[in-house]
Amino acid sequence: WVGGAWRAAAGGGWLAVEDPARGAPGAVGGRARVARGGAADVAAAVAAARAAWRAGVWRDLAPGARAAVLRRLAAGLAAEAGDLARLEAADCGKPLREADWDLEDASACFEFYADLAESQALEEEVPLPEPGFRGRVRREPLGVVGLITPWNYPLLMACWKVAPALAAGCSVVLKPSEHASLTCLELARLAHAAGVPAGVLNVVTGLGAEAGAALAAHPGLAKVCFTGSSATGALVAAAAARRAVPCTLELGGKSALVIFDDADVEKAVEWAMFGCFWTNGQICSATSRVLVQDGVAPRFLERLARRAAQLKLAPPLDPEGQVGPLVCASQYRKVVGHIERARQSRARLLCGGAERPAGLGGGFYVRPTVFTDVPVDSALWTEEVFGPVMAVRTFASEREAVDLANASEFGLAAAVISRDRARCERLAGAFEAGIVWQNCSQPCFPQLPWGGGKRSGYGRELSKAGLENFQHVKQICTYESGDVWDWYAPPGPRAKL
Ligand code: NAD
Repeated sequence: WVGGAWRAAAGGGWLAVEDPARGAPGAVGGRARVARGGAADVAAAVAAARAAWRAGVWRDLAPGARAAVLRRLAAGLAAEAGDLARLEAADCGKPLREADWDLEDASACFEFYADLAESQALEEEVPLPEPGFRGRVRREPLGVVGLITPWNYPLLMACWKVAPALAAGCSVVLKPSEHASLTCLELARLAHAAGVPAGVLNVVTGLGAEAGAALAAHPGLAKVCFTGSSATGALVAAAAARRAVPCTLELGGKSALVIFDDADVEKAVEWAMFGCFWTNGQICSATSRVLVQDGVAPRFLERLARRAAQLKLAPPLDPEGQVGPLVCASQYRKVVGHIERARQSRARLLCGGAERPAGLGGGFYVRPTVFTDVPVDSALWTEEVFGPVMAVRTFASEREAVDLANASEFGLAAAVISRDRARCERLAGAFEAGIVWQNCSQPCFPQLPWGGGKRSGYGRELSKAGLENFQHVKQICTYESGDVWDWYAPPGPRAKL
């Protein structure tokens, strides 16, 4: 989708759509292939975005006028939510009930940024210490931005970037993941129908090493915003750094959930499962390291094993399904490899495992899997698995729990479950993470900033920070007195000219 029109890739190539439920290439929602965009398509998309930027068709609109278009886009997403959720679920493998939820969030994200754009003061007066001077700080749209997104929440992760970028007045080139691009193409269609002018939102599908790398390195961008793995994020940041343009990175994690003896075990188990098995475990902020205090551990593990085994694996469009197939063959092999290596280690398998569940054919299904006594130096404890695999350890003291939680190269999220509010507050302060959940795991509101530290990236999305990501800050200093001194006079009292 470039310059307001569909086109084939300049190189004529296509990528086959993979059906995660069958574990093979196949049509998803009637679509069997997407264009394999490359450097020439990225160049065309950036040129279209720059032309729209120069013409001022979007950035020169009043924030209220842009907000009206974004609200129509939110309404368009809501009107087609059922079909879009089915397409999303079938394309990336998540259960339909979760995709329904994503669609609500996608629509709400556009509403949120429409409201914020309208209410944001774009200019602020700043008192200055020198008489005669007036100071102002103005926020302006940044320009043409490149957005690169992953496949776990294909539409929602795109909306987290596209909504604030458009609300700010930027022009956009979006590169969705090659593993699940279909709903991002629908987003382009709906944005056009809502009145986003041609060239303001462009979507180039294609491989990361081709279209993604070309976008990250394109000299016509004012900024690159990336969500994906830490390894790819480092490549994207390096490409942006070579041109000295800003970049935000929302990367992976290995977040801890700490459960204290005073927790309600039933509730703790539900949060632990939600925090690690939702979206088939493919969540950047998944609390996939669970630390449980010695006193409550036996009851917690006994119930967790029972509940995890009850989750229903099913094809994504099965309305009863609770866990679907992983997105693609490479991801499936990676997750199964983690489980197999953990089985060779000193970790103890509590439930699940790498064997394919019966009756689901060749789809990329992995049963919710829990290992306990996981060694702290093992891959299962230190690396992001990105599948429904939970690593559990016990701890004795609060100090030990905090040290274990923070002993990670990632710093995206951390959670604590305890009835002791003072303890929850102490841990909120002690966690080295950008997101802290108290007595829950994974809730996400557009009103709150999202992002991490350490190898989980830098910058923040959502909230006011998400809008400011796409704004340039300009100072305007006005001399209003009219008096000018003879600056070049010899030392001594200066005379006014
Ligand atoms: P990925 O890094 O493989 O791919 C992400 C995007 O980058 C895709 O669009 C891909 O095509 C593109 N890409 C790949 N190579 C590239 C290159 N050389 N140059 C430019 N772009 C390139 O990640 P993924 O497998 O799609 O997503 C899973 C990862 O995303 C996990 O690590 C997960 O934690 C992370 N994630 C983070 C957040 C967050 O908010 N922090 C949210 C969702 C996912």
